Amino acid sequence: MPQLLKAESIIDKKLPELTKRCAKLKKAGIKPTMAVIQVGNNAASSSYIKNKKKLCEQIGATFVHSQLPEKISVKKFLAEVKKINTNKKIHGAIIQLPLPKQLQKLAIEELISPEKDIDGFHPQNIYQVFSGKPSTGLIPCTPKGIMQLLAHYEISLAQKNVAIIGRSLIVGKPLALLMTNQDATVTLCHSKTKDLAHITQQADIIVAAIGRAKFININHLSPNKNQVLIDVGINKFENALCGDIDFEAVKNNIAAITPVPGGVGPLTVLSLIENLLLTTENK
Ligand code: NAD
Repeated sequence: MPQLLKAESIIDKKLPELTKRCAKLKKAGIKPTMAVIQVGNNAASSSYIKNKKKLCEQIGATFVHSQLPEKISVKKFLAEVKKINTNKKIHGAIIQLPLPKQLQKLAIEELISPEKDIDGFHPQNIYQVFSGKPSTGLIPCTPKGIMQLLAHYEISLAQKNVAIIGRSLIVGKPLALLMTNQDATVTLCHSKTKDLAHITQQADIIVAAIGRAKFININHLSPNKNQVLIDVGINKFENALCGDIDFEAVKNNIAAITPVPGGVGPLTVLSLIENLLLTTENK
């Protein structure tokens, strides 16, 4: 069996520290408060929101769920976002994706004001990912969680070859920069990449952020059995959750892998809570 890179031990280690920081703020009369704006009733989104609420409340922070109707107009939606941006009692906010069609043309990453942007998507915050010089610490949560996981398990990036599959703004692209900043050589692959398996076979670390159940299989691996696999995918497969990596097919041919569930997902939520404390403390 490969080493299982689970989130649990990281969360157990971090929670007491986050709870302490939250209590300190509350003692000073500041109640860290997160707002999540959801449009419509997407089942997967509702389940992610539930996880955010749970961890938020677990550290003693306040959670506000603003649920808006699916058919809301652009004008009304922007007015709701403005309300959250100007509410002094709210310290961090996110817009839960996906959004309905009528809102998809908006520059979503610019809507939450940078000082409340706990997703780390605002251009003012994302710049630090490009520059490699941390400023606000508000870094996109999934890449931040993956970097934390690698550090926790002492998997260094310097001089490693990394293949990231998926070039989204929330996972693949920022992660490629964060890893480059730590001296990895990163190949960012996507749906138009030629001969993906040839690239993944050369990698020391493979990150799968595709959104296709069990896509990565034994054909993508090196014969050396020494690769580390990070599975970002969350997919439904035969009524259960699974990642983008076919765990059963690869498990005897790799060094380590993040499980799904229990790997990257919980660390994304942990990073969001960390970002909430940063925005609250930065006030
Ligand atoms: P996305 O849909 O925005 O992007 C998917 C990427 O996969 C694209 O860049 C595309 O080019 C690439 N791709 C698609 N088919 C491919 C193929 N055949 N070969 C190579 N590349 C291909 O996805 P996203 O928002 O980054 O999410 C990816 C997955 O990660 C989803 O399953 C999502 O649910 C999951 N996710 C998990 C977390 C978490 O906390 N664990 C956070 C965000 C996203």
